[in-house]
Amino acid sequence: MSPIFAIVDCNNFYVSCERVFNPKLAGKPVVVLSNNDGCVVARSDEAKAISIKMGVPVFKISNLIKTHEVQVCSSNYALYGDMSQRVMTTLSEFTPDIEIYSIDEAFLDLSRFKRYNLTDYGHRIRSTIKKWIGIPVSVGIAETKTLAKIAGRIAKKSEKTGGVLDLTASPYLDRALAITDVEDVWGVGRSYSRFLKENGIKNALQLRDAGDSFIKKRMGIVGLRMVRELRGVACYSLERCLPPKKGITVSRSFKDSIKTLTEMKEAVAAYVSIGATKLRKERSAAGVIMVFLMTNRFQQERHYFNLETIQLPVPTSDTSELIQYAHEGLKKIYMKGYLYKRVGVMFKDLVPDGQIQSIFFDRRDRKRSEKLMLVLDRINDRMGSGTLKYAAVGLGRNQRWQTVFERRSPAYTTNWDQLLKVS
Ligand SMILES: [Mg+2]
Repeated sequence: MSPIFAIVDCNNFYVSCERVFNPKLAGKPVVVLSNNDGCVVARSDEAKAISIKMGVPVFKISNLIKTHEVQVCSSNYALYGDMSQRVMTTLSEFTPDIEIYSIDEAFLDLSRFKRYNLTDYGHRIRSTIKKWIGIPVSVGIAETKTLAKIAGRIAKKSEKTGGVLDLTASPYLDRALAITDVEDVWGVGRSYSRFLKENGIKNALQLRDAGDSFIKKRMGIVGLRMVRELRGVACYSLERCLPPKKGITVSRSFKDSIKTLTEMKEAVAAYVSIGATKLRKERSAAGVIMVFLMTNRFQQERHYFNLETIQLPVPTSDTSELIQYAHEGLKKIYMKGYLYKRVGVMFKDLVPDGQIQSIFFDRRDRKRSEKLMLVLDRINDRMGSGTLKYAAVGLGRNQRWQTVFERRSPAYTTNWDQLLKVS
């Protein structure tokens, strides 16, 4: 039985988040800037229409900004992260089979809904997220992840679809592939697309019908999988998140790849902090911590994945202790010279915090740590998550984790003081 995948992708996610809380931005060209207000990292459709390009430094478009009254926002990752979580939680009400693929995208396995009209189901997902959270999404449905991605792209671009396109057993499948540039096929990327175009393969349809041996010789097994996926043979399955009872996983794909150990350590510290807060909310402690990292899986030449498992002497939910162990693990698996796309931590062997067996040589002051964590959680609950954090996360440095946000919108959803006021 062939599976059915859906990709749910938030449209212009950062801009859409800003618009939820600032209706004045509706219908106008809007851009969101990167850390330190340097480059454009998100654009509304209106901004795309006046050809503001992704990644362009803001000083280069100052004229456009003036003439078209472009609204400029600093990035507000606390807001986007929280909105993302809301979207994902809502999606998991439609099916438990969900893979959070990035901050604004998730794959769903809809195989169990085969008997329903999948287009209707897609529209239900779309309208629920719009109504509950205020974010517009596109939904692409197909028999493989790669085809679902193509369906999602067209659903976003073509108004006729109303934001949802189901390509399972569709008479429009070939047409959809023909209008998809080969560069836009999931995983093809710049360098492969140049090579493919040189060989007369310009769109997804031509790639689907390319010869196996040619593809295998020039693009290896990864290329062969791409082609098979285009033919409707699922080669990639849903990478489910771990069930919450058995463990807690915190992991994100980076928008831009990360190279240095310093940045990786900050990311790991940030994820451990999030996970440890969750642990304490559930009143549990972790007996095992796992750290993993990976490069972009589509760069087959330089692909690297590794995972380190650390057995803790005493189960703990103490943020600083967990960061310390996670950093030890990270150092073992980090290799210089790779461009990392994702890093994550998993807490496993969870035990209720009342049942922790202490060991004789435990030199940590557990009572003191408990009190400290209680204070930390209380302050962060009240003042917004991240008000108090460990220096390992990268306090006050001009980096990804802590930067200058001149025109940042308030943390509407995570900070009581910045709640939207209705006058
Ligand atoms: Mg998106």
